[in-house]
Amino acid sequence: MRGIYFDHNATTPVDAEVLRAMLPFLSDTYGNASSIHSFGQEARAAVEKAREEVARLVGARPAEIVFTSGGTESDNLAILGIVRGARGERKHVITSAIEHHAVLHTCQALEAEGVEVTYLPVSAAGVIDPAALRNALRAHTVLITVMMANNELGTIQPIEEIGRIAAEADVWLHTDAVQAAGKLPIDVTRLGVDLLSLSGHKLYAPKGVGALYVRSGARLARQSFGGHHERDRRPGTENVPGIVALGRAAELARGHLADEPLRLGALRDRFERGVLDRIGSTRVNGAAAPRVPNTANITFSFVEGESLVIALDLKGLACSTGAACSAGAIEPSHVLTAIGLPPHDAHASLRFSLGRANTADDVDAALALLPPTVAHLRELSPLAPKPVAIP
Ligand SMILES: *Cc1c(COP(=O)(O)O)cnc(C)c1O
Repeated sequence: MRGIYFDHNATTPVDAEVLRAMLPFLSDTYGNASSIHSFGQEARAAVEKAREEVARLVGARPAEIVFTSGGTESDNLAILGIVRGARGERKHVITSAIEHHAVLHTCQALEAEGVEVTYLPVSAAGVIDPAALRNALRAHTVLITVMMANNELGTIQPIEEIGRIAAEADVWLHTDAVQAAGKLPIDVTRLGVDLLSLSGHKLYAPKGVGALYVRSGARLARQSFGGHHERDRRPGTENVPGIVALGRAAELARGHLADEPLRLGALRDRFERGVLDRIGSTRVNGAAAPRVPNTANITFSFVEGESLVIALDLKGLACSTGAACSAGAIEPSHVLTAIGLPPHDAHASLRFSLGRANTADDVDAALALLPPTVAHLRELSPLAPKPVAIP
């Protein structure tokens, strides 16, 4: 039994068409894209075609796309590149409390270098307040980095408004759009974004490839050293099969934008309504904010989230907690903590993220599995009020 996969925010399967596009570059078409012979030229042509497709997905020019090893490297390159490349003794960065660790830990690394960082809080709905961002600006602010859509909640940040503030203040704006790409239309010009991160494996391409949009004119200090690849912005022999895959995935995502988000939104809403109707003491996190259509984050009070994930997995449903296991202790998710959930509710929250292959039958099967599984865990829980409330 393959089971039902509701964890697309963790990773997506490689689309069959994406696999078909990349396979020749793992076998016959193996040239190094920097070689001048025909083997190399073939690889180069494929890389540049992919660059056009990725650029088109975000409304950029091909020359503004840098291929990387994934979302994490894109975030690192954007943030470290801009801040380390900026002039001045004092430097200040503004970010949010709910960023992915690829952004948060990079900001912490900068703090160790003496850079000041403001971590903006979010509302209970999981959205930052643009007015607070404006107030956080200082004379030496060099970068604002705020994600487009949150990976745990799906909440969408007001990037266009932040873009106007950044432009007025003449501060660079980076956004981690890893969870937004393919789910929302993206136009870097309309949004006023200067740098934008993408990841292949969140977009039905393989793991280990990503892209960073860098507005032409942005001064990006080099973060690794080697050859002159990617216009001197990211050295290293190009991952040609991965890049070809990302290009095809971007093309497919653009084609799906008109209908797939609507389809997923309807499935997600059906799932959330079903859970709320069938299981007491549940609530949807981030529901009061605009969200990407595939993500549902639900608190099942009195349940230990990790236990629920394991119990559901045994019954064939894959989902996740936002919690990250660090140093043997399970820390509550920094995102759920930031929206004000107390630790016991943060530990009782699960993320269900739907994707391209999911159907209404998957949602209904998940809705059949969940109530008895939650009820069983609540019976075992010392936290649950007795008798367990069944609506
Ligand atoms: C997955 C993810 C990343 C990291 O991307 P990788 O390609 O796995 O390195 C960064 N930001 C967000 C929001 C993500 O969901």
